[in-house]
Amino acid sequence: MKTVYTFGGDAPHDESRQKDKTVTGGKGANLAEMAGIGLPVPPGFTITTEECVRYLQEGADFSDQLRADVANALTHIEGAVGKRFGDAADPLLVSVRSGARVSMPGMMDTVLNLGLNDATVQGLAATSGDPRFAWDSYRRFIQMYSDVVLGLDHGLFEEALEIAKEDKGYFTDTELESEDLEALVGEYKSIVANELGNSFPQDVTEQLWGAIAAVFDSWDSERAKVYRRLNAIPGDWGTAVNVQAMVFGNMGNSSATGVAFTRDPSTGERSYYGEWLVNAQGEDVVAGIRTPQYLTKARREAAGAELPSMEEAMPKAYGELARVFDLLEAHYRDMQDIEFTVQQGKLWMLQTRSGKRTAKAALKMAVDMAGEGLISEEEAILRVDPMALDQLLHPTLDPDAPRDVLGEGLPASPGAASGKIVLDADTAELWANREEEVILVRVETSPEDIHGMHAAKGILTARGGMTSHAAVVARGMGRPCVSGASAVSINLAERTLRIGQRELKEGDVITLDGSTGKVMAGRVPTIEPELAGDFGTLIGWADKYRRMGVRTNAETPEDCRTARQFGAEGIGLCRTEHMFFDAGRISAVRAMILADDEAGRRAALERLLPEQRGDFAEIFRTMAGLPCTIRLLDPPLHEFMPTRDAEFADLADDLGVDIEHLKRRAAELHEFNPMLGHRGCRLGITFPEIYEMQARAIFEAAVAVTGEGGEPVVPEVMIPLVATKKELEILRALVVRTANTVFEEMGASVDYLTGTMIELPRAALMAGEIAEEARFFSFGTNDLTQTALGVSRDDAGRFLGSYVDQGIYERDPFVSLDIDGVGQLVEIAVERGRATRPDIKLGICGEHGGDPESIAFCEKVGLDYVSASPYRVPIARLAAAQAALKAKG
Ligand code: ADP
Ligand code: MG
Ligand code: MG
Repeated sequence: MKTVYTFGGDAPHDESRQKDKTVTGGKGANLAEMAGIGLPVPPGFTITTEECVRYLQEGADFSDQLRADVANALTHIEGAVGKRFGDAADPLLVSVRSGARVSMPGMMDTVLNLGLNDATVQGLAATSGDPRFAWDSYRRFIQMYSDVVLGLDHGLFEEALEIAKEDKGYFTDTELESEDLEALVGEYKSIVANELGNSFPQDVTEQLWGAIAAVFDSWDSERAKVYRRLNAIPGDWGTAVNVQAMVFGNMGNSSATGVAFTRDPSTGERSYYGEWLVNAQGEDVVAGIRTPQYLTKARREAAGAELPSMEEAMPKAYGELARVFDLLEAHYRDMQDIEFTVQQGKLWMLQTRSGKRTAKAALKMAVDMAGEGLISEEEAILRVDPMALDQLLHPTLDPDAPRDVLGEGLPASPGAASGKIVLDADTAELWANREEEVILVRVETSPEDIHGMHAAKGILTARGGMTSHAAVVARGMGRPCVSGASAVSINLAERTLRIGQRELKEGDVITLDGSTGKVMAGRVPTIEPELAGDFGTLIGWADKYRRMGVRTNAETPEDCRTARQFGAEGIGLCRTEHMFFDAGRISAVRAMILADDEAGRRAALERLLPEQRGDFAEIFRTMAGLPCTIRLLDPPLHEFMPTRDAEFADLADDLGVDIEHLKRRAAELHEFNPMLGHRGCRLGITFPEIYEMQARAIFEAAVAVTGEGGEPVVPEVMIPLVATKKELEILRALVVRTANTVFEEMGASVDYLTGTMIELPRAALMAGEIAEEARFFSFGTNDLTQTALGVSRDDAGRFLGSYVDQGIYERDPFVSLDIDGVGQLVEIAVERGRATRPDIKLGICGEHGGDPESIAFCEKVGLDYVSASPYRVPIARLAAAQAALKAKG
């Protein structure tokens, strides 16, 4: 196995291992690639990542093989450049550059101008005819080498530089004359000698191996480890080392250095974008030592900048650069991020890679490049990260607007919103009804707050993580949410709150940015999302390649409308309980729950029937004949229970019963573990009148809306939390009976389906039998994850973070489906369900229905559709198309 690959000059570049980033790193692979297509790349060589791994494993030891190969490769550079390394008369200088498989900006080290010493600096001065340049390069080298290889604090050198300038009354580095720099080199060398007790290494071979070791070692530096952990980069990849002949951007005013993008990385526009500096080296551009200049004349003029653009100052080199940009885009078929240097008028390419971009730019570039014929539609679809669309689907803060940040929490649900602070759900609803924009601020939210969350423009909580109630519900509703903002403390009695040091009161205006977690004082202007344009184009293409349907989880007409606007093809999950929390209904619901007997329950249900019928009718109208899966009542009843004395008193009044009696009933209904308690179909089994009322409401609404003309309504009635065939048999019979009664009463009928959610491991295993009673399965992967993992979603916040950090679960299993475990249950259920009923309709309605990786899994097991919250519908459409394209291969 080769340990070293050469590039540039007349080196061959046809070995596939050399172009493999896992072997030569991103930088090395691309340098070889650029040299291979004839671009001007200073010659050099790459030591493989494998050698780095070996070196680190073997306790910082170079193999004899590597020593020999490096010596050979150095000869290649010497031949190509026509200079020798360490030659006092005409020295070759090199850079030693790190370069891992993926770019880890600023994490690892690079040394420039290596090969300079007290003798070679004279040769460089003589051959360049520019002693100032030679001494400037030497002092840069000593500083960089001392920092990176010798481990000295670079502040020591900067201090010496400052003193040198002060002594002369200079303001900038460029004012330093050759003699000043020579004196500074002397100063630098004595700093090294003082600090280390050894003099600065004069042997160029020792310099080279010192730098190679330092780059290898930098893979295991603390900062690199932290970066890897944050970005999920494995620790065993190692870094490659690139040794490359130096080219000099600091050889006077016909020399320069710069960085550039082939298109604008923030807007995606097809115009060159970059910065450059005359008479400068390497990192001067990014280091901010001098203010960089614009690359193009148009940009310079737009910015009203004085200093000339490269286009104006160096038209020839700029023309060459523009030609290279186009070649690179044509070759890589993607936007490139480039480093270049101009040495006395000649352009050299030092790096290229696919450029990082904003979501907006990614979308525009994908669509544009397909239009230009650079990539195909399929490739365009695969280019855009579906999750990045999230940034585009919500209002965002105007980037130019000033902001006064009060504090920060978790970016729980994206988008920005401003409004008046309200401290409880009822106030939120009340004020919203007065046409006021409000932000609901709570310690944490519970199902009782749903109506307030819906009424609010945004939600802020002091406690709770990314999967807290507030976060999940807010994402579902498309409300921006900042959760777990621990700097927030609420004083409900005084109706005030404190964020960090600032006192605020109910009614004060704040702004939330759910994409960053920031909370700001006052109103910060926002920008509305753009659903037409590139977005519409790309998503339209995606639909052509998508196999699975995309439905939405929605229960209000407003959410249904939003979802349809985003392209939802039906409702995958309509949670009827959310309708129960409505302020006008909760007392009827409570009366039902706390009733002593069936008659009491029926009386309360009578009150709810017209309300539910109205809800369903509105949803059916909005969905205009698209399939709607409606789940019968699912949550534990305690969620509806009054908690405060005042609520008990109101209810007692309403029902004309004794408050103590009510409280006793409530205590009787207490459950130790409500998630596994009296909920789901168990409610229907014990209180059939509840499901009967709901089924009646569904069918009456379906018949009525069908009667209005338009597309006929075909409701899909879904029974939750089924574990056995018998449960479904009993409840399906109830639904069918109710349907028949309604059809007879109304003298008209509709087609409908009955089916179940698969959300218990037993149901997945028994799917073959259950399918005898079910026309469809909808995988309720939230509960299926809870029940399969034995982890309560509401309590997972305390430990799941550590689990993910320690790699026990790769990702939060409530966000991204645990494919190995829970996924197996899904696969089993799909297989067994289809064996019984080949045309069984299969979908997923958990949060996972909006997660691209989980969607890819759904494609693989052949589900018919995924269902996601309204704002995730476009993400799901794109992810489903990508999954289909990848499955096709
Ligand atoms: P990073 O990954 O931090 O960008 P690089 O290895 O790319 O580090 O190098 C740092 C800077 O030095 C870049 O601006 C690069 O263009 C410049 N540079 C690297 N090698 C050379 C070289 N052989 N000649 C001139 N400049 C170089
Ligand atoms: Mg670089
Ligand atoms: Mg469930």
